Amino acid sequence: MQPLARDKRPFHFGTNFKMNQTPAETARFLADLAPRLNQNRVPETVRLFVIPPFTSLPMAIAARETAGLTSRVWIGAQNVHWATEGAYTGEISVPMLTSIGVDLVLLGHAERRGLFGETDEALAKKVPAALVAGLQVLLCVGETAEEKAFGVGPETVTRQLKIALHDVGNEALSRLLIGYEPVWSIGAGGTPARPQDVMETVVPLRHALTEKFGAAGQNVPILYGGSVAPDNCGDFVTLEEIDGLFVGRAAWQVEGFERVLQAALVARGDIRGDAD
Ligand code: PEP
Repeated sequence: MQPLARDKRPFHFGTNFKMNQTPAETARFLADLAPRLNQNRVPETVRLFVIPPFTSLPMAIAARETAGLTSRVWIGAQNVHWATEGAYTGEISVPMLTSIGVDLVLLGHAERRGLFGETDEALAKKVPAALVAGLQVLLCVGETAEEKAFGVGPETVTRQLKIALHDVGNEALSRLLIGYEPVWSIGAGGTPARPQDVMETVVPLRHALTEKFGAAGQNVPILYGGSVAPDNCGDFVTLEEIDGLFVGRAAWQVEGFERVLQAALVARGDIRGDAD
């Protein structure tokens, strides 16, 4: 597979609702999103995704269809187990997600790793299980403030990436996305990263991807996430290695989702700004 030129690589943009939003609220979000995409002339090539809680997934899939967004917005789950079935109380399997029409699964989010003990070894089983079944996988990696202070941020994320992708082959690569989310930058109290912080880490990540997958590793989208807002998103989307944004708080309401998306597309030169 040939590496795609930067301007040919699709832009990805989405949000993770975390433990927020009822099914009805999620449906309202999707219904309100459709006219905003048209109004802002968001190009069809932009790949959008929304990752609500498990309980909202069926309603989100139905609301997306009603809103005419089925081909434009991936609906994602926030976690999945690696086994297809079994005695795993409280877990959800890949066939359970695919059977209701889920497109994507988020794996390795810092909150799963930090608060719920998700290990790199568990991710090494989850990532291939989800990819093989046809799900898009958004694999998050990120270093803590301590790891950054000790100067081991790049090697920490590279290690996370290499373990999670250990059993992934090139055949599944077109469904893989990487989210670089510095742990010190995400959530309330997070510090926005500087572009040089992001480059310092994503260049080694890209290198690890090409080392494992050859030229095809160049085409794996790397998204940035962590305190992204309308006024700073342009700093990230104009970086050579960044192919999208993964937004939390700023995009939980549809107005915010629209504002950040619009600002990012203007910064990339994909749409015109109000002042143009
Ligand atoms: C996140 O937690 O993944 C995230 C990107 O959050 P926020 O944008 O709120 O920092």
